[in-house]
Amino acid sequence: MSRLLSAACGCTALLMHTVAFAQSGDVPDWVYGDGELPEKWSVTNEAYGACDAGAMQSPIDLAETNARGDISLSASYGVAEGKLKLGPRKVQVDVGPGMGMISGERLYSLLQMHFHTPAEHVLHDKRYPLVVHLVHGSQKGHFAVLGVAFEEGEANPALQPIIDAMEANRSAFEFDVAKLVPDDLSVYRYMGSLTTPPCTEGVNWHVADNVLTASPEQIAMFVSRLGNSNRSLQPVNNRLVVGPEG
Ligand SMILES: [Zn+2]
Repeated sequence: MSRLLSAACGCTALLMHTVAFAQSGDVPDWVYGDGELPEKWSVTNEAYGACDAGAMQSPIDLAETNARGDISLSASYGVAEGKLKLGPRKVQVDVGPGMGMISGERLYSLLQMHFHTPAEHVLHDKRYPLVVHLVHGSQKGHFAVLGVAFEEGEANPALQPIIDAMEANRSAFEFDVAKLVPDDLSVYRYMGSLTTPPCTEGVNWHVADNVLTASPEQIAMFVSRLGNSNRSLQPVNNRLVVGPEG
């Protein structure tokens, strides 16, 4: 009897563990499509209604820019202690307070950055092989994201500590966030959404026009970890999409 009881307790503990994992988002109840057809995430979870019913979703094709202008954006990033969080199709690095950007006279603090392979927004008529999304929050709870794409070329010095931490199964490391952002920060800007469920709208999106390089080995490391992790393109509808002058 005691054997049975302990077995039952073991099962319950395992079940609770699994539930806790699902709730923490480590076992997602959604999957990526092929990057072309809509994913229909609200079919599996009605809490994801905005993903399919929303009219301001991301990513988009930036060729659909419908205005040009000087976009006021200033950013301040530097050396930080990163905390690596890995999950299925997730490579995320959390950072402490102290860095961020000012867009449209609103201050956004950098919270975390994560990667997608290939890039989600179509920029210069293509999806680059790797993108970093720097996710920021304002004091009033508004989100702003800065996306920076990578093409094959020279190794990027800020990606290497992240890769080394992944390979060594180490959580904490130091890296220079400024090296993940181009010196000339010309951006596309529009109002969109989180690109993963629950696809919350009201996200102030910025995508850097200038692309950085990463070595083929660095890109391959992210691809092997993330697989296809890009959401399909979403309709622009009647949104304002401002591109850099030039
Ligand atoms: Zn993202």
